[in-house]
Amino acid sequence: MSVTSMPETKVTPRSIAIVGAGQAGLLLGCALLDQGYQVIIVTNRSAEEVWNGKVMSSQFIFEPALAIERRFGMNQWEDECPWTDGISFSVPAPDGSGTQAIHWHAMLDKPGQSVDQRVKMPGWMKEFERRGGELRIANVGVPELEALAASHELVLLAGGKGEIVNLLGRDEERSPVKQPMRALALTYVTGMKRHDYPECVNFNLIPGVGEYFVFPALTTKGKGETQACDIMVLEGVPGGPMDCWAGLSPEQHFEASMNVLKTFVPWEYERSRDCQLTDPNGILSGKITPTVRKPVLTLPSGRKIMGMGDAVLVNDPITGQGSNNATKGAGAYYEAIIARGGQPFDEAWMQATFDAFYNGYAKEAVRWTNSLLFPPPDFRVNLLGAAQQFPGIAARIADGFNDPRDFAHYWYEAADADRLIASEAQKAA
Ligand SMILES: Cc1cc2nc3c(=O)[nH]c(=O)nc-3n(C[C@H](O)[C@H](O)[C@H](O)COP(=O)(O)OP(=O)(O)OC[C@H]3O[C@@H](n4cnc5c(N)ncnc54)[C@H](O)[C@@H]3O)c2cc1C
Repeated sequence: MSVTSMPETKVTPRSIAIVGAGQAGLLLGCALLDQGYQVIIVTNRSAEEVWNGKVMSSQFIFEPALAIERRFGMNQWEDECPWTDGISFSVPAPDGSGTQAIHWHAMLDKPGQSVDQRVKMPGWMKEFERRGGELRIANVGVPELEALAASHELVLLAGGKGEIVNLLGRDEERSPVKQPMRALALTYVTGMKRHDYPECVNFNLIPGVGEYFVFPALTTKGKGETQACDIMVLEGVPGGPMDCWAGLSPEQHFEASMNVLKTFVPWEYERSRDCQLTDPNGILSGKITPTVRKPVLTLPSGRKIMGMGDAVLVNDPITGQGSNNATKGAGAYYEAIIARGGQPFDEAWMQATFDAFYNGYAKEAVRWTNSLLFPPPDFRVNLLGAAQQFPGIAARIADGFNDPRDFAHYWYEAADADRLIASEAQKAA
């Protein structure tokens, strides 16, 4: 049969349903709309509720993930949001003198940004609808998943830390950390003094107590307005003096944050003493059990749906990788969906798509993040100290935040760390 005599077939766009309007779901949804896919996102909070609600994250995003947002035309706040150029690292002196035993800073290859999800998700919801997507506000449970799976070729569960994602089931082998390792707190503030080196994610490691890191961001300011702020992230070892967040009012939470700074990282307190909370919703506390979940869920009907973002990969925020992983995962799923052409999104494809992302990238982000939740071995303390002397090591660690796969070369084994120190020492000689 010649091409001209073929019966006319109507090409209908492939239909995709996404549950959850967060970093992963909205990014992928908007990117697929641009390729002519029919996309619905069902999410349980409206744009207004997100804008007026509590902060959810510190959402610092490094350049490789920003590049994905840019590629999909999702970089709306790039000009408005303050840039962060580097990573600084400090450890207090053990003698209680309030000085730094270790301090270094290194420039990132390219800077990163943090746009409060209260600003970003409402903006992206609007953008999703502008591109022709259908946004529905509803709390999704199993019956709704069944209905979506019956009427769409692919259903993606991007429900973040919502209860529903537990249906995916924990992958015990890929989840070596079995309980929360930190009591987490976020405190969004204005009025912080800048320091005399480039803007950094300032990471302070307080042995036995926890970690404090802080960086600039863009947040809400009343109705529809935005403002620059700084986000304090406090990670307390459970049962220790930084595990102090439960049941506090916003004012008490702010005071507790300032007390931590004054007690353990006085150089940070000095530049924070005039700070104020951005708003009563600019705080968060909680605990996370680091979890890798199985990517495929079989519904009671036998239909299969697929997880993405935090639904399949939830890490402690200690390395600031969650939004980055969600973005990179959305990018990887996008490529796989496009490459699938008109073939079915079956279980084998779902599993292979996730495994390719996990084995090719995410497992190293998980491994590195988990490594920071335990007291560092001596060789790693030496390495972090050597970074103060050898800028090449500091730069290498800083750029690991962009792509944690590099840590496999020197972070986990004493011999590898010693080799890196020796080679940098040789360069410096
Ligand atoms: C304290 C803290 C600090 C963090 N700091 C950083 C950082 O600096 N850098 C970084 O990269 N990452 C950070 N993260 C992690 C980051 O916030 C997450 O990894 C990221 O938001 C995950 O995106 P997601 O799209 O998977 O989920 P989310 O962005 O959480 O989106 C999930 C969506 O699903 C919706 N939903 C949930 N349940 C249902 C349901 N049943 N029905 C319908 N909708 C539902 C929610 O309302 C939401 O819209 C931090 C996290 C925490 C807790």
